[in-house]
Amino acid sequence: MPRFLILVLDGLRPDFVRPEIMPNLCALKKRGSVVTGSRAQFPTHTRVNKVSFATGSTPHHHGVHFNKFYDPRISSERFIDIGLFEEVHGAEHRAPILTAPALGEVLAAAGKRFVLVHCGMPGAPWLLNYRGDRLGHQHISMSGYQFSTAEAAIAVETAMGPLPAAGGINLERSRFALRAFTDVLYPRFAPDVALIWSDEPDKSLHDDGLFGPKSQAAIKAADDLVGNAMEWWERTGQKDGVELIVLSDHGHAQRARQIDVKSAIRDSGLPVATDSAEPGRAVILPFGGLYLRDRNPALLERIALWLQEQEWCGPMFSDDLDGITGVLPGTFSKALVSIDHPRAPDLVFTTQREDGPEGKGICVDTGGGGGVWGSTHGGLHWSELRTVMVAAGPGFREGYESGVPGGMIDIVPTLLDRLGIQRPGSMAGRPLRDIYGDGGDQEDAAPAAETLSVSNGAYRQHLTLRRLARRNIVETGWRE
Ligand SMILES: [Zn+2]
Repeated sequence: MPRFLILVLDGLRPDFVRPEIMPNLCALKKRGSVVTGSRAQFPTHTRVNKVSFATGSTPHHHGVHFNKFYDPRISSERFIDIGLFEEVHGAEHRAPILTAPALGEVLAAAGKRFVLVHCGMPGAPWLLNYRGDRLGHQHISMSGYQFSTAEAAIAVETAMGPLPAAGGINLERSRFALRAFTDVLYPRFAPDVALIWSDEPDKSLHDDGLFGPKSQAAIKAADDLVGNAMEWWERTGQKDGVELIVLSDHGHAQRARQIDVKSAIRDSGLPVATDSAEPGRAVILPFGGLYLRDRNPALLERIALWLQEQEWCGPMFSDDLDGITGVLPGTFSKALVSIDHPRAPDLVFTTQREDGPEGKGICVDTGGGGGVWGSTHGGLHWSELRTVMVAAGPGFREGYESGVPGGMIDIVPTLLDRLGIQRPGSMAGRPLRDIYGDGGDQEDAAPAAETLSVSNGAYRQHLTLRRLARRNIVETGWRE
């Protein structure tokens, strides 16, 4: 049986993978298969893609649309921030955060073991390794041993000592994460599936933009990490049948300017709250989710119209009308991009992007600073949607470029297929058999791209996508 090591380089755009800056990843591409049609799950936020990876599915099944969400079953007053450890654990007592089974549950039922080392917020590893502490799986959160499963924390702390600083730009964190896996967790737990999630180059890109020196150093460091993973793989992993997969979860668009959505909403005079949910008011998540606290369709329509009048507002989605358009004039259906779910915002909006290689876009100002030099993601520009997917090892074709459309949600179905484990019905992703060494029938091999348009007066938006049997893959989206 194969084993898998998956390395995620957060925010790495495929066009960054060039020999002069990423020689190791370029070498791995030659040794394995590259899925050139790999796309992020929309909305192109990290935690959405983490959960989409873990469940092999879309927000339609798992119910996570942003890094935070509003669910009156958990709290009618405020958003739940799934990056925070206390929030994840507090919420779990009231209602499940994920409404689809995750990788760990499926592996445990088949007697397999999962190990994770995670760089990023302390709540997120508890979603990637959902309920894993009760299933015999292990994880290290690089935010602190106290956010890790007990056995892994003791083993790594005993062998390697304190963790590097948890916050800020810190390239040592990812190196430590890899060594924790190769030197401690792999020999001790012999996982069937292992995941290392590096928070770079994402963090540096947010801070320094696509071309800044800090970002370039982070991309180079990400490639060094791939080189170190390949060294371990050649020395140890390959003997044990480990296959190596390198992914990114989303891309980045250069930040052109910032918009303070909270202030704009406040100044509009609309009955919308931005922090807490007050009766009679809608509540907005500035990143692009608007939830009605009380069912009031007239209010929702007023807000949608106001958003459409704002030049910074990009594509918008509301409840399904006919499979393409949403119930609100000029919006697309949430079902079209697989984000319809009882917990979905009533209205999902993005900020505007320009076409062009940088995908220049308007970033939501959340008061965290960052200036205009950084880059951003969460929207529908192709530069945010295109992702890296490279798979190498005896089970995958060598030196092969696959044009099959795929994404984050196809990885777990692919691994389960290779391990001979049946997939739960909620997994809308499908195995990428096109890249298997022994070939295989590829489901949804070549759906053509189509462009759809909807409008409401001067507001006109477009979406280019490919229709697959169980979800659509978005190529790009924009407004006029
Ligand atoms: Zn990010």
